[in-house]
Amino acid sequence: MPSVYIKTYGCQMNERDSEAVAAQLVAKGYTLAKSEAMADVVLLNTCSVRDMAEQKALNKMKSMVGVAKKERPNQIFGFMGCMAQSRGQELIDKLPDVDLVVGTQKFHRTADYLDEIFAGRRDKIVDIAAEEKSEATIREHLLNGNATKSVTAFVSIMQGCNQYCTFCIVPYTRGEERSRGIADIVAECRELVSRGVKEITLLGQIVTSYGRRDIPVRDGKSAFVQLLEAVHEIAGLERIRFTSPHPKGYGDDLVVAYGRLPKLVESAHLPVQSGSDRLLKLMHRGYTRERYLGIIEKLRKAQPRIGITTDIIVGFPGETETDFEETLSLAREVEFDNAYIFKYSPRKDTPAAALDGQLPQAVKEERNEALLNLINEIGARHYEKFVGCRTEILVEGPSKKNPARMMGRTRCNKIVVFDGAERHGGQLMDVRIERVGAFTLYGEPAIVNLG
Ligand code: SF4
Repeated sequence: MPSVYIKTYGCQMNERDSEAVAAQLVAKGYTLAKSEAMADVVLLNTCSVRDMAEQKALNKMKSMVGVAKKERPNQIFGFMGCMAQSRGQELIDKLPDVDLVVGTQKFHRTADYLDEIFAGRRDKIVDIAAEEKSEATIREHLLNGNATKSVTAFVSIMQGCNQYCTFCIVPYTRGEERSRGIADIVAECRELVSRGVKEITLLGQIVTSYGRRDIPVRDGKSAFVQLLEAVHEIAGLERIRFTSPHPKGYGDDLVVAYGRLPKLVESAHLPVQSGSDRLLKLMHRGYTRERYLGIIEKLRKAQPRIGITTDIIVGFPGETETDFEETLSLAREVEFDNAYIFKYSPRKDTPAAALDGQLPQAVKEERNEALLNLINEIGARHYEKFVGCRTEILVEGPSKKNPARMMGRTRCNKIVVFDGAERHGGQLMDVRIERVGAFTLYGEPAIVNLG
């Protein structure tokens, strides 16, 4: 059987989609190649959120097909995911050596399409059509014995987004919100736990909107909180996370859930995007600065040790110095544990791309740096507080930077590196934090691990 190499750009949803495609191909007998040079099939799972991500994937494909023409004429190339969805046939028109373009509702068809290409039944395939129930097709996992993969897993609970933030291309590439059923998701989680998984992250573009059209509110609990409760019931599961939520979806039912569901870890990612009400309105975010700060206050009341991270865009069209100052002041007020900062990148056909007041790159760079410095300074203060404390981590495996050491994650989502051994992989254990680095804690096992 042929070998396949999948390169993934972008977010955790893309990582998860790639994993499911890889698992589907492995189930058919494919092997996973370690590099594109060793693969019979190379698939790029693309991201459209920023122009740079699209250009990277296009350049990668150009260089690979160039080499293949000379050295591996039978190699098969495909694009999957968001850029495949938004550009479709255009990708093959521009790069005629590409064989396959698979949109965001068609990942599960990849294996069959490759069969058809290998069998010579079809030459080029482009499929970016919508498909009913495609939200329930991302379910296979590659739990291949690697500690990192087997102890934590991501489960896709929904696809698409109806929020239509004016800067965001996701509603156009991923389509309308479509949610899987609770029983179906729980069955997948149970299966993962039976295979050794201890922490599950529920995934979607806007998970707090999960099931809101199909599953009625029950006892004041939204569909998403009902799902959290159902997953929480699974014996053997230790931790639950979710991403990405929307601040609008942090109703009191979800805030209270942090206090009453012990497996729901003390970690919340609340993408704020801006501290200025004027910009929040232009972005179509659906909340004000005051409402956002109110949610943070309630979360900290429900769970005082909660780690809070966010996403922020700098250089949105028309962002004035005053708007930017409001973002800085919000970051100071909330004291985020960390923030992912993005320089606004106009996306074709989104409303913000047509707004007046597009800012020069130099201004975006300057604001990015100023905000990054502030976030780093606040983050460093937060991390310092851990020194000398004992904290529980779930050990995921060897540290990526130094495989001689082990790496785990606290409940509030901080990475801890420590001198451990293979036997610690997959264990919940206590460590004492000795020192801090840049957004990393360094610790020592606090007790003999009793497993
Ligand atoms: S909620 Fe998130 S995914 Fe949906 S449009 Fe806004 S930024 Fe994009």
